Amino acid sequence: MGETTVTSVNEHGHLSIGGADTVALAAKYGTPLYVMDEDAIRTNCRALKNSLDRHYAQHGLVLYASKAFCCKRMYRIIEEEGLGADVVSGGELYTALEAGFPAQKIYFHGNNKTADELSMALEAGVGRIVVDNIAELELLSALAVAAGKTADILFRIKPGIDAHTHNFVRTGQIDSKFGFALETGEALEAVQKALTMQGIRFAGVHCHIGSQIFEIDPFVHAAEVMLGFIQKVRETCGYTIGELNLGGGFGIRYVQEDDPKALESYMEAVSKTVLDFCREKELPVPFICIEPGRSIVGDTGVTLYTVGGVKTIPGCRTYVSIDGGMTDNPRYALYQSSYEAIIANKAAQQKDFTATIAGRCCESGDLIQEHTQIQTPAVGDILAVLSTGAYNYSMASNYNRVPRPPVVMVRGGTDSLAVRRETYADLVRNDV
Ligand SMILES: *Cc1c(COP(=O)(O)O)cnc(C)c1O
Repeated sequence: MGETTVTSVNEHGHLSIGGADTVALAAKYGTPLYVMDEDAIRTNCRALKNSLDRHYAQHGLVLYASKAFCCKRMYRIIEEEGLGADVVSGGELYTALEAGFPAQKIYFHGNNKTADELSMALEAGVGRIVVDNIAELELLSALAVAAGKTADILFRIKPGIDAHTHNFVRTGQIDSKFGFALETGEALEAVQKALTMQGIRFAGVHCHIGSQIFEIDPFVHAAEVMLGFIQKVRETCGYTIGELNLGGGFGIRYVQEDDPKALESYMEAVSKTVLDFCREKELPVPFICIEPGRSIVGDTGVTLYTVGGVKTIPGCRTYVSIDGGMTDNPRYALYQSSYEAIIANKAAQQKDFTATIAGRCCESGDLIQEHTQIQTPAVGDILAVLSTGAYNYSMASNYNRVPRPPVVMVRGGTDSLAVRRETYADLVRNDV
């Protein structure tokens, strides 16, 4: 949440993360390499948890949105910090269970969960299944009845909020594949139906309006819309909804120009909206969940690469080629996301060079950043890309049969492996 200092420059003029020298880490583990500051992850978890507890008198839960960065170590960290987890696939659920994460604190999302995934969730006893549509509600009811279980559900609602962010990460508006619409009466009908269905216990509603949002207004507006719906359900169905999950999406700083609001400003504005509304309408304050992903891990990670070539095209640009790229960070190729890069072994020097950082895949669009300022590069330098903790490792692929890099975590200045480097043998393991 930008409140922690993750990277700095040490006495050797090297970039350090969590007190560990990145140049030494690159030598020890090889590149490309993801490095995460575990202390900073924990600090972010605590800031969110303390804030939620304070604003809602401990009647709520912070859920870590696993899709931002998912591995067994991460689930152990969030469990130790007292958070719940949001999973969006059987694979994330499996990872959480393998890590020993308590099923009761898992919320299962997704706009098209399969029957197998729903059965797996019922079997494991996940805390909440967040139902996206009527077909899923019917399928879940049938599966729960057959298994002799009751599924505790939330409905995903589209509150119709236009969060001022990139189109690809905007999900709260009407034209979205996620959730039930309010305007058309679809959401209300679904609630009426759920209240009569076997194998289903309707517990509450959820919304998630997008990602990397800097403004506070969209969150406040979303909360108002959701509370209005809770009120409407009470009036029309005589049922008082007890849980409100307000989603994630808090923006973080990737580059200097980014100006995320402090966590406290979000929490204060939204909790005031919720508490005032409930007081006015004499509604019991619902159990509140928030689901941050990026703001827990985004600024806690860096990716380290080795510079392999520097190619100047006169009158055009200079490509600095690295030993990774869109396979470990597809976000520039997908959304032209901004990142700051630093030559880790020259971190104390001036940034006097304009570079386009190019990956090694057979795609012209395999770039990490264009026309960005770095220190003058040379072959063999260690290039660090900052704030890669979220949606990098979790979005990595094996395109061009490039093995995924390992993840190293630094805690109290000591490094340890959280995910080992993929091998060539891993790449052919499923080939028949
Ligand atoms: C992605 C997602 C989140 C987390 O979003 P961030 O921008 O990483 O905070 C939370 N809830 C749902 C349902 C999501 O899809």
